[in-house]
Amino acid sequence: MSRTILIVGASRGLGLGLARQFSSQGWQVIATVRDPARADALKALAGVRIEALELDDADSLERLAQRLAGTQLDVLYVNAGIAGPQDKPATAASQMEVGQLFFTNAVAPVRLAERLLPLVEQKQGVIVFMSSILGSVETGPGMGMPLYGASKAALNHLTRSFVAGLGESTLTVLSMHPGWVKTDMGGSEAPLDVETSTRGMTEQVIRAIGQGGHRYLDFQGNPLPW
Ligand code: NDP
Repeated sequence: MSRTILIVGASRGLGLGLARQFSSQGWQVIATVRDPARADALKALAGVRIEALELDDADSLERLAQRLAGTQLDVLYVNAGIAGPQDKPATAASQMEVGQLFFTNAVAPVRLAERLLPLVEQKQGVIVFMSSILGSVETGPGMGMPLYGASKAALNHLTRSFVAGLGESTLTVLSMHPGWVKTDMGGSEAPLDVETSTRGMTEQVIRAIGQGGHRYLDFQGNPLPW
């Protein structure tokens, strides 16, 4: 029986790459985008169901949850994220820029996971949050993009609270670092291409099914320090 994955933020970059990987392995892929009218690359993939979602909007999340009612997910992959005002020192960013960054990268992904949890719990599945090595409090500082790193550290922190709230659940939760990848966000200097990163992450996700627990790891499965 084929497995089902919901990928949040799949219009381009790593989310689109993940959709390509899972669809090529015969998974049923449900992919969210902000604007389905501009999802041509996703539409070109066989059997991908496209759903609209603005991650920051609670009403949009509620509408998605209603449309997905009754669907059982093996994997929920929360990929969407933003870089924020990376051209500025952390203390020069505006209150609005900082609020937007932390809301989109840290709060909204966990809020979505809380809302869609029943769909994954029925399958004892896997929830993946797209983190970053820059979110490691131990190794991230000094690597650049301090505000972005702090937003991913906040995501890791909220993810651990989310996991603590699961109690005795048999769900598996991953906080994933994709590597530094050539995308709109990663830029052209990045050493990895989308195919290599997403192939590695797909392997890690499939390996994690049924394992339980919460791990912070990279696309090759190497554990990262919190
Ligand atoms: P891109 O900028 O290429 O793509 C970002 C994706 O997130 C797009 O699909 C975008 O949709 C979506 N998105 C952003 N904000 C929202 C929102 N509010 N609601 C819905 N969708 C949203 O980034 P990458 O593919 O490089 O990054 C994907 C994830 O990986 C991010 O979480 C990023 O932080 C993380 N990451 C990336 C690294 C890299 O080197 N590339 C390294 C470490 C982590 P739209 O097209 O509508 O804007």
